[in-house]
Amino acid sequence: MLHKYYVNNSAQQNGDHEVHEEHCAYLKMAHDVKYLGMFENGIQAVAYARKFYAKADGCYFCCKEAHTS
Ligand SMILES: [Zn+2]
Repeated sequence: MLHKYYVNNSAQQNGDHEVHEEHCAYLKMAHDVKYLGMFENGIQAVAYARKFYAKADGCYFCCKEAHTS
């Protein structure tokens, strides 16, 4: 099953651009996001987000499989 993923255009304090699944509460709190597309999981979404942001990282809450820092 595919889910919609977004990346935060604003970096966190550590420089990471968090990737979120569409229903994540933290996505709703982000003000400036880019729609990435539909992916099977956070790992695929983060890999795609790295085309835009070298320091893209999965959200701890909604993309735990892709969260590294
Ligand atoms: Zn999230």
